[in-house]
Amino acid sequence: MPEFALDLNDDQKAVREWIHGFAADVIRPAAAEWDEREETPWPIIQEAAKIGLYSLDFYAQQFFDPTGLGIPMAMEELFWGDAGIALSLVGTGLAAVGVLANGTEEQIGTWIPQMYGDAADVKLAAFCSSEPDAGSDVAAMRTRAVYDEARDEWVLTGTKTWATNGGIANVHVVVAVVDPELGSKGHASFIVPPGTPGLSQGQKFKKHGIRASHTAEVVLDDVRIPGHCLLGGKEKLDERLARARERVRTGGERVKNAAMATFEASRPAVAAQAVGIARAAYEVALEYAKTRVQFGRPIIDNQGIAFQLADMATRVDAARLLVWRASWMAAAGKPFEAAEGSMSKLFAGETAQTVTAQAMQILGGNGYTREYPVERMHRDAAIYTVFEGTSEIQRLVIARTVSGVAVR
Ligand SMILES: Cc1cc2nc3c(=O)[nH]c(=O)nc-3n(C[C@H](O)[C@H](O)[C@H](O)COP(=O)(O)OP(=O)(O)OC[C@H]3O[C@@H](n4cnc5c(N)ncnc54)[C@H](O)[C@@H]3O)c2cc1C
Repeated sequence: MPEFALDLNDDQKAVREWIHGFAADVIRPAAAEWDEREETPWPIIQEAAKIGLYSLDFYAQQFFDPTGLGIPMAMEELFWGDAGIALSLVGTGLAAVGVLANGTEEQIGTWIPQMYGDAADVKLAAFCSSEPDAGSDVAAMRTRAVYDEARDEWVLTGTKTWATNGGIANVHVVVAVVDPELGSKGHASFIVPPGTPGLSQGQKFKKHGIRASHTAEVVLDDVRIPGHCLLGGKEKLDERLARARERVRTGGERVKNAAMATFEASRPAVAAQAVGIARAAYEVALEYAKTRVQFGRPIIDNQGIAFQLADMATRVDAARLLVWRASWMAAAGKPFEAAEGSMSKLFAGETAQTVTAQAMQILGGNGYTREYPVERMHRDAAIYTVFEGTSEIQRLVIARTVSGVAVR
């Protein structure tokens, strides 16, 4: 198991510098344009694919970094560039993690490459769990998966919502109910291969922030997929369901559900995105405070401004430390016994909101306009207390874990 260390090694530093260069030279200059267009920035995804930054190889390398710091470092740099564009670059990763968390080696090898495509023909993937009546309450999910034994096919029916890349993805990972009696323990994840009839995009949402990232409903109308598209395979599912039924009968060991396995693995990575946004806003505010002159001196000469910047810097560092700890624990195979993954997401998400709001205040009237980037950063930051589990749900997870009480 690698020791926890805050020193990046030479390879990590080189990768960070490379990503930072792309974020500064390609992502940042395009941020305002794609925010206004509210469209997927395909040309930037293609640019990233050309240099290997949007590729399975790159993410696999970071994902399997034994220190655990590869992914959070990459996320922080990309989201420092711009959150909407960066989410278009990393949204595929949530679906890939869904396959990594629940799939067999063969499924991982077959489907993850198709999620990214290649530099000549880039592709995206979507992870579809949320539904109109099942957001935080995952157990309320209604999308059904029914096994047609005669044809060895699964039939998916239902409506998913809020899916990042939903409908424009090459591969969709869909969580559905296989046994309604078991609540969230009766869920399973499925691959819907490219071009499968019956899957279509519903409404595309117009959003407050991260507007370059595509968010839409996904409608599943009698979608037939081969038996081998059940992630983990039928045998494993049957065993898991049998254990869950046994547990319902006897009150035994806990069984994890499919969507939760994905979210647990991805929370620190999402938290790192929030750190990137917060750091970006802090840097803009620091620079502005040094140059903006009022009452004959730079505004940073006032403790009222300088102390805010001190708080912002402290919060950003504290958030990163929580993220790195959780990421290291996940890589080292240490279970989140005190809900460390949720702690990192909760604190980093709220830090992004607080710090971007403080940055707007420090920029005064300019902070409120689209001439300066902190207005966009503040809108982008708002999603970080909502998706991948709201702040209230993170607090619920932490409170239950640290107290052992089934807090409601
Ligand atoms: C831009 C965007 C992208 C997204 N991308 C994806 C994606 O790719 N795939 C996917 O599956 N989903 C995605 N989501 C969905 C996201 O994960 C959900 O929006 C989120 O889980 C919250 O669900 P909800 O919106 O239904 O809110 P609700 O669950 O209805 O919550 C409403 C409010 O009630 C609070 N609340 C609910 N239950 C409790 C409780 N027990 N105690 C205290 N407070 C509670 C919540 O914290 C929140 O403040 C995305 C959402 C957005 C907006």
